[in-house]
Amino acid sequence: MYCESCRRLVEGDRCPLCGKKCKRDVEADDLILVRSTSQIRADMFCDVLQQNEIPYYKQSDIGAGMAMLTGLQMESFSIFVPYSRYEEAKEISDALFSQAEEEEYDPESDSSAEMESESD
Ligand SMILES: [Zn+2]
Repeated sequence: MYCESCRRLVEGDRCPLCGKKCKRDVEADDLILVRSTSQIRADMFCDVLQQNEIPYYKQSDIGAGMAMLTGLQMESFSIFVPYSRYEEAKEISDALFSQAEEEEYDPESDSSAEMESESD
């Protein structure tokens, strides 16, 4: 089934996230959540989607108020694609993030790695 509130596939007839009853099956042009990630990685992902001509929808997870509350600089984004392209997008996502995700929480690792290769 498809939850119209959370934009995701749901097993059974009730969404575990919002608790709403899902009334219908997913349709080809329904938006499906592929991944939530930091802005940098979301941009990277969207670039690849664009190269593959997969339409996408990017949504900020944290509103301005929430960002102020948490004091976090790193805003999170959710990437949605139409269900008809979901499998492709998921593959791209897995390929793109399977290794990168490990380093997600160390923002300095990317830049220091670049500097090392340059100094060598
Ligand atoms: Zn839901």
